[in-house]
Amino acid sequence: ILHIADLSKTYQSAGRTLTVLDNINFSVTAGSTNAIVGPSGSGKTTLLGLCAGLDRSSSGIVELNGINLGNMSEDKRAQVRNQYVGFIFQNFQLLPTLTALENVMVPLELRGERNIKARALDLLDKVGLAERSHHYPTQLSGGEQQRVSLARAFSNQPKILFADEPTGNLDAETSEKVIKLIFDLNKEAGTTLVVVTHDLELAAKTQRIIRIKGGKLVSDEKTSVNV
Ligand code: ATP
Repeated sequence: ILHIADLSKTYQSAGRTLTVLDNINFSVTAGSTNAIVGPSGSGKTTLLGLCAGLDRSSSGIVELNGINLGNMSEDKRAQVRNQYVGFIFQNFQLLPTLTALENVMVPLELRGERNIKARALDLLDKVGLAERSHHYPTQLSGGEQQRVSLARAFSNQPKILFADEPTGNLDAETSEKVIKLIFDLNKEAGTTLVVVTHDLELAAKTQRIIRIKGGKLVSDEKTSVNV
């Protein structure tokens, strides 16, 4: 479902070229669970953003569900994202002026779907937040915001879910809940998972661990979790 070849990303800063990702290659099969791990600043978030079509590479191929994102305009990439991708951000990225319910409704609205309010409520119920649906993000705890962002990511029934440190800011109990929700989505709907994490326990729950260091892929190993 995801094919990455010779992928590089550079930034220009103060007249110098900074190579953040250097010639990365891997493919992800549909329905699989994958972790990306590595030291802080190694390029994991950048890699996830490129895979999800949030950002453009400097060179190389990113193919999502057979669609080459390489030369696409931001508008076209947004359409592909809406159709296939769910994304959970490190800092939640909820829209502060919208309630929990409205945040979850946004992707459904963008897709021009019907009954969006009822469906968004259903999704919030699934993550255990039905009674918080009219709260604004500032009125929710970190864990609750993360669960709203999960409900939002699930709303377009993504083929592939990218999660950037989904448990990074959560206590152990809430982490467990969030991890369960993500893996249930994989089991029930066959959603492919690609998770960036520092949490080695979470990484060990996936079928494969890709290690990034200094912008390079340094190892790519199957775990003992069954496919
Ligand atoms: P962490 O685990 O700390 O979140 P990471 O592995 O996700 O780190 P990235 O966020 O992908 O790392 O950043 C990789 C490198 O790219 C960092 O050195 C960062 O400073 C640099 N970088 C990221 N975005 C930009 C940008 N827009 N301009 C210049 N440099 C950037």
